[in-house]
Amino acid sequence: MDAAVLVAPGVKGRKVLSLERHLLDEKEAVAGLMRSIADSGVRSAFYVLDLTRVVALHRRWRRALPYVRPYYAVKCNPEPALLGALAELGAGFDCASRREIEAVLELAVDPGSIVYANPCKPDAHIEYAAQVGVSLTTYDSVEEVAKVKRCHPDCELILRIKGPDNAQAKVDLGTKYGAHADEVVPLLRAAQRAGLRVAGVSFHVGSGGSRTDVYRRAIEAARAAFDAAATLGMPPMRVLDIGGGFMARGSAFKEAAAVINDALAQNFGDLPRVELIGEPGRYFAETAFTLAARVIGKRTRGEVREYWIDDGLYGSLNCVLMDDYVPRPRTLAGRRPGKQQRTYTSTVFGPTCDSLDTVITGYQLPEMSVGEWLVFDDMGAYTKGSGSNFNGFYTSDIETFLAYSS
Ligand code: PLP
Repeated sequence: MDAAVLVAPGVKGRKVLSLERHLLDEKEAVAGLMRSIADSGVRSAFYVLDLTRVVALHRRWRRALPYVRPYYAVKCNPEPALLGALAELGAGFDCASRREIEAVLELAVDPGSIVYANPCKPDAHIEYAAQVGVSLTTYDSVEEVAKVKRCHPDCELILRIKGPDNAQAKVDLGTKYGAHADEVVPLLRAAQRAGLRVAGVSFHVGSGGSRTDVYRRAIEAARAAFDAAATLGMPPMRVLDIGGGFMARGSAFKEAAAVINDALAQNFGDLPRVELIGEPGRYFAETAFTLAARVIGKRTRGEVREYWIDDGLYGSLNCVLMDDYVPRPRTLAGRRPGKQQRTYTSTVFGPTCDSLDTVITGYQLPEMSVGEWLVFDDMGAYTKGSGSNFNGFYTSDIETFLAYSS
């Protein structure tokens, strides 16, 4: 299985650097590799994608949620090597647009392993899904039923229900998506009238939260929707999609899995044929990517140091604004051996001309020179994929090096 990742589509043909993890701790192993990349003459921001970690996270998922097939949410980070590795490991994919579907199909993934999980889609994107055989999509409005009927009449639907309120999550998706309890029956009826099959129910409890009770309440609500469909005489539903919201760091995933397994046994134990899927994004991507950004400018004001780096809030570090990412950069050079290292109160700016493009202020860093590097951990979720090209700094051009330890 592990070796297969190295020949996965998206990885094939790209150089995979060796990660000497057995010698060091995980972060130091990646930093060591980053130092050798920087020493090789690279002069602009780059990522390292740790494929070993992706394999380990997949293994952990299979152990904790053995009956739930992960459909990786491409929006979280569409790096082809990550998609390819996950495809090789047997994952399906949650795509939200034509381009995301194309990116997955380019890796020779079966269209049947894709759920078009965007409840509100442009006509042209639905027509594209019809052309390429992606025939399972989410909805939460009567208007979407009419649109799918018109653009892709053979498509099956998944009713997206609103997850429990979860204001504590970084992104509470329930404020935008999901049928309220009193909308479930009208939405099922709308699909029934249109002659579209409702294959199942989905929800998303919110992204980047640590509460786990929300899964139980969402699974209970999903079961109520299954029962409502049966009462309406609709064909039995066959899919339950438990969405995303999983975290790789800490114990949150283990706790969520325990709640989910228990809630599934209680609410779906009598429906053993129901196919269980999830849409994890952050879980697979967040900790697998590390960013190195280069110091491209410096100003000294008394005891304060100000640095410019070549990635910022309009680029990968948009996650500071959009995803509550708290930057805690460290120097790639690491701690110099011997004497105690002096630090300075520092500000780190991004490269664009907007003063909003300030990554961190009042942060302690050792003295750095132009040409040195800052390292940002856990930079895989909602980063490179959601950066802009403002001021001509192309987020999409930031190179990703692939790493693997055998
Ligand atoms: N599924 C859907 C429909 C989403 O909107 C999202 C994130 O916005 C995800 C899955 C992935 O969520 P997460 O990254 O929290 O796992």
